[in-house]
Amino acid sequence: MALKDKDLFRQQALIGGTWRDASTKARVDVIDPASQKVLGTIPDMGRDETRAAIDAAAAAFKHWKTKAHAERAALLERWHELMRRHEQDLALLLTLEQGKPLAESLGEIRYGASFVKWFAEEARRINGSTIPAPTVDRRILVLKEPVGVCGIITPWNFPNAMITRKVAPALAAGCTVVIKPSEFTPFSALAIAVLAERAGIPAGVINIVTGMPAEIGAELMANETVRKISFTGSTRVGALLMKGAADNIKRLSLELGGNAPFIVFDDADIDRAVEGAIASKFRNGGQTCVCCNRILVQAGIYDAFAQKLASRVSKMKVGAGTEEGVAIGPMINGAAIEKIKRHVTDALNKGAKIISESEAVPEGRQYARPVVLGGATTEMLLASEETFGPVAPLFRFETEDEAIAIANGTPFGLAAYFYTENLKRSWRVAEALEFGMVGLNTGLISTEVAPFGGVKQSGLGREGSQLGIEEYIETKALHIGGL
Ligand code: NAD
Repeated sequence: MALKDKDLFRQQALIGGTWRDASTKARVDVIDPASQKVLGTIPDMGRDETRAAIDAAAAAFKHWKTKAHAERAALLERWHELMRRHEQDLALLLTLEQGKPLAESLGEIRYGASFVKWFAEEARRINGSTIPAPTVDRRILVLKEPVGVCGIITPWNFPNAMITRKVAPALAAGCTVVIKPSEFTPFSALAIAVLAERAGIPAGVINIVTGMPAEIGAELMANETVRKISFTGSTRVGALLMKGAADNIKRLSLELGGNAPFIVFDDADIDRAVEGAIASKFRNGGQTCVCCNRILVQAGIYDAFAQKLASRVSKMKVGAGTEEGVAIGPMINGAAIEKIKRHVTDALNKGAKIISESEAVPEGRQYARPVVLGGATTEMLLASEETFGPVAPLFRFETEDEAIAIANGTPFGLAAYFYTENLKRSWRVAEALEFGMVGLNTGLISTEVAPFGGVKQSGLGREGSQLGIEEYIETKALHIGGL
């Protein structure tokens, strides 16, 4: 691997400041999705190692929570600087384990690092308040305190940013963490833990347990020392964790799946809408929770929009993320390819037509061809499930009411997008969409300064913005009497 700093490639887990193997010595292979060869291995840890990591986090919490906010902020600033200094290595590692094009990986590293800087700044603004007391001899203060040890469980599609979006506010608030990264993409997590050590973040504040999820997840949920779980991943696993959290009333933040509509009205700027659709649909090969999954186009501009989008998609280059000019990297695994094929076949069987697709991709490899499908309907699988691949289905609609009904006709509510040049319609539709995030005339909605999160079955809580740190803070009312 051509990393400048070879030390960033770690194949051990981190518990209480010690880089460790599993006590059973068992290991899990991590596969490069482009070559389908083994990139490296990680310890396959279970309940014992998870318990050790939780104990280490609990021990570190005693000291970490008593540090001045400014001191924690300074350590986070230093961590941010190191991420930016090593961004090329971190991006390469990310592409090798996850597959996305190198330029996108670099974008993710910068986006991920931005949360560390943002929450270093927010650490200084964890303000309490005073409340006028009902009698003159009393005072009431509201204190803000860290929640405690947090379990952080993250997916493979953004192996860097999904971690920093949680760990930075947790640390800024004074919490310590046990991270369980996806078993498909653990190396990005381990690399930023190396940089956290170099930044001087004390041992035990960040712990990483690697391996298959069942046992690690079971211990994180059952262990009463863990006061909060922050999870990003599928709605299926999110629901399972919510049930587990009920047993000892853990706090929960859930960033789950989506089924984003992308509505193009007759009065839209078509070129802008095509740009937005490309950015929203094809980033990360379509493996993004806020990816548009259903593109709804009003009848009057349906053909013009379809043609422009098709012409762009037909030129997309598919290949290894490390190759120059590649727009779509490999999908994460064989199951992802199977799901995409199932959705496309189902749509074609139910009357959809291929409007355009990229050049053929090598057989037997983990590549999916970017495709635009016309004539999509709500009966198709791709209307109700996340496809998580480079498939752009176009649904034709006639009226605004019809578009809103289709858009909201899903149990998910993460992101939605719409394009119009009409001011009144902008307000009407923005307010009618039942989603946590709405892009109006833009396909880009991810930034550290704005709240990120969903409604309905897309989750609970918000990350980023000034709200993100609240997820890691408890409120204590202090009543002082006899004054
Ligand atoms: P996943 O739910 O399969 O896995 C996510 C994480 O949970 C992984 O680390 C996995 O090992 C772990 N996990 C699996 N079973 C577990 C268990 N029983 N106990 C504890 N942990 C367990 O999701 P994925 O396939 O890695 O990621 C894709 C999904 O994530 C998509 O649905 C996508 O929409 C969603 N996602 C949501 C957001 C968001 O911000 N809302 C962001 C990125 C991805």
